[in-house]
Amino acid sequence: VHIAIIGVGRVGAALAFRLIFEPYIDELTLVDIIPGLAGVVKEDIYHGLATYGLDMRINSYDDCRHVENADMIVITAGVARKPSESRRDLAEKNSKIIYDIIECLADRNPKAWYVIITNPVDALATLVSKLLGDSKRVIGTGTSLDTTRFRCAISRSIGVPLSYVEAYTGGEHGEHVVLLWSTVHICGMPLDEYLSSSGKQIDKKDITNYVKNISSKIISMQGGTMWGPAIVFSEIIKNIILNTGRIMSVSTLRKFKEISEPVHVTIPTKVGWSIGPDIWNILDRREQEEIVRAAEAIYKTYMICLKSLKSP
Ligand code: NAD
Repeated sequence: VHIAIIGVGRVGAALAFRLIFEPYIDELTLVDIIPGLAGVVKEDIYHGLATYGLDMRINSYDDCRHVENADMIVITAGVARKPSESRRDLAEKNSKIIYDIIECLADRNPKAWYVIITNPVDALATLVSKLLGDSKRVIGTGTSLDTTRFRCAISRSIGVPLSYVEAYTGGEHGEHVVLLWSTVHICGMPLDEYLSSSGKQIDKKDITNYVKNISSKIISMQGGTMWGPAIVFSEIIKNIILNTGRIMSVSTLRKFKEISEPVHVTIPTKVGWSIGPDIWNILDRREQEEIVRAAEAIYKTYMICLKSLKSP
């Protein structure tokens, strides 16, 4: 399996480091537009490979033109937000970057899956789907990271180990994330049942604040998030390549009657060689409505992306 990572800043480099421990990957290609950056990230990672005597091949380039016949292309290239910015504020700059990358890679990598990480991730995944004209191979990382934050916050709020918590988020990564309370189970027990049998309480407002705001705190202290993204995104890659069928909060193209075009929005779904089925039908009506509102917000951002591609 040959995986290419385009953009090896904080998230791309952390993801590359995580992926060297995956035995199903034979070849990793790293690309960054900063001359020499992918090369030094490669060297640094090779020293780790040498510790274990692992034989993964790593290539590094300053230009996408050298990436050929990858099985999967992971895009983290672009501008990252400042703590005061919204992910949507990156739409104009990052859509131009993503457009150029897809133009460069599409013909050289005819069978590749695309995993889009760059923000605003759902609007940009929509853009990539439209550019490639093949939505089945394009996955946005969607609210996968928000889901891990949701699980952390629940586990702490009610004082149970993380391994007891099953929970998902959907909608838009960022402002319009939808916390899917109906999916929350503690040791297999629906949340309300668990709370009444244990006598514990949960502060939903506090949990919502944590999920929506913890990234700004990490960005202001650390410059950006990286370890959480590296692990959860490597799971998305693994679940696709190994065809596990595990349910994850990734964004895929979805058409709603309220919106004129399909957009990438997260509805937790099985992830493998094919994507789906999703869990739409078991969500409650209010959650479904909130996901549609999120999709409307994503569509607006997608329109900003399209407009910026037309401007000089
Ligand atoms: P970063 O600035 O550390 O890294 C971005 C890298 O992309 C830089 O090294 C830059 O040189 C490179 N780059 C820019 N244009 C390029 C091009 N045309 N070709 C190749 N490389 C190019 O930023 P980061 O913290 O790693 O974040 C990267 C992106 O991922 C941001 O848009 C950020 O908002 C997003 N992100 C998304 C999620 C998510 O859940 N989807 C989580 C974290 C970060």
